[in-house]
Amino acid sequence: AYRPGDGQSRPVERRLANLGAASVLFYRQPIEMVGAEGAWMIAKDGTRYLDFYNNVPSVGHSHPRVVEAVSRQIAQLNTNTRYIVSVVDDYLEALKALLPPELSNVMMTCSGSEANDLAIRVARAATGGTGIIVTETAYHGNTALVTEVSPSALKRGSLPETVIAIPPPGAAHFGEDIAGGFRASVEAALAEFGRRGIRPAAFLADSIFSSDGILADPPGFLAPVVEAVRAAGGLFIADEVQPGFGRTGDAFWGYERHGVTPDIVTMGKPMGNGFPMAAMVARPDHLEQFCADVGYFNTFGGNPVAAAAGHAVLDVIREEGLQENARETGAHLLAGLRQVAEGDARVTDVRGAGLFIGIDLAEETGRPDPAFTVQLIDAMRAHKVLIGAAGRYGATLKVRPPLCLTREEAERFVEAFRAALAG
Ligand code: PMP
Repeated sequence: AYRPGDGQSRPVERRLANLGAASVLFYRQPIEMVGAEGAWMIAKDGTRYLDFYNNVPSVGHSHPRVVEAVSRQIAQLNTNTRYIVSVVDDYLEALKALLPPELSNVMMTCSGSEANDLAIRVARAATGGTGIIVTETAYHGNTALVTEVSPSALKRGSLPETVIAIPPPGAAHFGEDIAGGFRASVEAALAEFGRRGIRPAAFLADSIFSSDGILADPPGFLAPVVEAVRAAGGLFIADEVQPGFGRTGDAFWGYERHGVTPDIVTMGKPMGNGFPMAAMVARPDHLEQFCADVGYFNTFGGNPVAAAAGHAVLDVIREEGLQENARETGAHLLAGLRQVAEGDARVTDVRGAGLFIGIDLAEETGRPDPAFTVQLIDAMRAHKVLIGAAGRYGATLKVRPPLCLTREEAERFVEAFRAALAG
């Protein structure tokens, strides 16, 4: 927590005065940024930082194609979403071409939180159930409803009885049999709902388990879980806010790595490369009850400028081969990091998919080491690399650079990590 009068710089004091207790800043000595390009951010003092803590400007900071598309559209027409504007439908068709054909209705929002809020309400209306299963350290957003399914956001208090949080699908809980252990956890949660007299509505999961510490393997472990949830009458909501848009390399969406078709998909962050836009995609029959009960209108969600930004992002991902780059540069990065890990007992695991990698840091006893993680994050900053942490203990470095990352930049990261470990 930062407090006014803590000896922070004037720009930080100014921010604290403006936001008060609600200010969320990164680093004990926050950085003032003035610009960015590609995988780099530029601070006011001229320092260039390699940005590994950002999956919003996913096709690269200030990508000229996105900048141009947004500028052109805002100069021509931007309006509330009650008119027909062809750029919007052009975009929705391009987006739907990347999704399973049965998920043919898109509801556009401005944030991932709104998309997940909507997904939960749609799932509850469609199933008649209320129970939601999530993982223990999940984060799905900031509305009142979505905070209830985001255990990592609850500083105190408990989950409502309609929400059950299960252990994340990692080796820490399930050893070798992640798929079997995870399925058993979901089945136990379904049975607990039965005892509480609650019918399940959905299993809601970020398919790369970002906040739980980046749990990507083995591919396929979600399939039996989805089967169990459906057998109990619930839906599978794939929260693609983190893994979507090519980041995992071997698939455009995170759920594809698991060979499952979700009932509802939500997406956000990288969707507009920084332009605030998000969406929920569902089957028409699942929307019927919700739309009959309340319906939905979002003033800004899916406006023409959002559509222009989103379309430019899809074009850039395809034309610049960014999914392939995520796979190849991600594999190169993973190999480099594993090499560093081999020489250092404090680095206990390096895992991931594409350009989404988690690095576990532990004490000699093997216990997760959040204090050392914070120290390393600061040391990485001194080596001009921005990176954050995730996981139950905050002891997993979350490696998440823009998808345009080059091999040289990946190598620079590995060297900075090696140097930061050396102290
Ligand atoms: N889902 C996941 C998996 C997220 O990581 C986040 C944001 N960190 C959200 C949803 C919420 O998205 P937003 O901040 O755009 O509301």
